[in-house]
Amino acid sequence: MTIYNFSAGPAVLPKEVLQQAQKELLDWHGSGMSVMEMSHRGKEYMGIQAQAEADLRELMGIPANYKVLFLQGGASQQFAMIPLNLLRGKLSADYVNTGEWSKKAISEAKKFSHVNVVASNADKNFTYVPAFDTWKLDKDAAYVHYTPNETIGGVEFNWVPNTGKVPLVADMSSSILSRPVDVPKFGLIYAGAQKNIGPAGLTIVIVRDDLVGHADPRLPAMLDYKTHADNDSMYNTPPTYGIYMAGLVFQWLKKNGGIAAMERTNIAKAKLLYDGIDSSNGFYVCPVNKADRSRMNVPFTLKDANLDGDFLKRADARGLLQLKGHRSVGGMRASIYNAMPLEGVQALVDFMNEFTKNNA
Ligand SMILES: *Cc1c(COP(=O)(O)O)cnc(C)c1O
Repeated sequence: MTIYNFSAGPAVLPKEVLQQAQKELLDWHGSGMSVMEMSHRGKEYMGIQAQAEADLRELMGIPANYKVLFLQGGASQQFAMIPLNLLRGKLSADYVNTGEWSKKAISEAKKFSHVNVVASNADKNFTYVPAFDTWKLDKDAAYVHYTPNETIGGVEFNWVPNTGKVPLVADMSSSILSRPVDVPKFGLIYAGAQKNIGPAGLTIVIVRDDLVGHADPRLPAMLDYKTHADNDSMYNTPPTYGIYMAGLVFQWLKKNGGIAAMERTNIAKAKLLYDGIDSSNGFYVCPVNKADRSRMNVPFTLKDANLDGDFLKRADARGLLQLKGHRSVGGMRASIYNAMPLEGVQALVDFMNEFTKNNA
C-alpha cells in the first residue's frame, strides 16, 4: 500500500531525498563519515552548507545584498528576534493578524515594543485575507509583519503587500518554496524548516543586510542576526544534519524544474482537493473564503462531526495519514506541501467521495 502523509509539520519529505540520505548515511561521498559525525569546520561539511546556501539563493533568486542565515529555535524564536533586531530605536511595529501564528508573533512582539495591529480577520473567525486598502499602516513603524500562509486556519495571501519604505517581514514557515516570491519586496523572510524544507531543528532567515547590526549591545550574541551573519551561520555549531537534508531538498527542487514547476503542481493539487470539497453538496465544508484558500493547508469539516472518528480510521486504513484537524478548528486538515505528489491528493479525493456515498 502506498502511504500518503498529510501532516502539517513535521511533514512529508520527497522519497528520493530520504533514499539518498539513506544511501549516504554511513559514508558521505567516500569520506568514511556520516554527515552527522563531521566537524562543522571541516572542508566536507563546509562544502555541504555552502552548496545548500547557493542552491537556495538560485531557487529563490535571493540578491547579493541579502544574508541567508541557518539558525535554530524555530519560527517561534524569530517572533522574538525580529523585534529585538529590527526595532532600530523606533517606537512601534505594525502587525497583521490573520490567525493563530500571527497572534503568537504579536504577543511576543508586545514584550519589546508597542504593536499596532493594522488589519485583522478576527471578525469572521480568521477565514479571509483583509483587503490592503483597509490596512491602517503607520509610516513610522519599524517594520510590517504578516503571515503569508496561516498553517492552522488555511488562509493564504495571493499578493504581497506594498509597504513602501517600511521593511516587510514575512513568516513563510508553511509556504516558502511553494511559489515564486520576489525577495526584494521583503526586508526579512523566515521559515521553520519542518513544513516545506527539511527536518525540524533548522530555521532559515533571509534578511536584507542594512537591517542587520542594530540590536542593543546587551542582546545575547545568539539572538543577534549580526553574530550569525558575520560568521556564515557558524558562530556556534549549526544544525548540520538538518542543513544537509535541506540541501538535498533544494537539489531535488532544482532537478524537478524549480519553484515555478512546483507552483504549477501545487495549483493543480489544491484545485483537485477544493473542487472535491465544494462538489460534495455540503458533506465537506471548507470555511475559508475562496480567493484566500491556502495551497498548502486545506482545512475542512464533515457536515456531521460524529463521523470524524470513522473518517480518520478508514483514511488511516487506506494509507492516508495524519488528517486530523488542529484542535482550534476541528474537523480535518490535509497539508499538501511540495513533497506531496498529485497522486496522493487524488487518492484522498477518491477516498472522500467513497466515504460520502457510504454515509449519504
Ligand atoms: C509551524 C509554524 C510556526 C512555528 O514553527 P516552530 O518552528 O515550531 O517554532 C510558526 N509560523 C508558522 C506559519 C508555522 O506554520
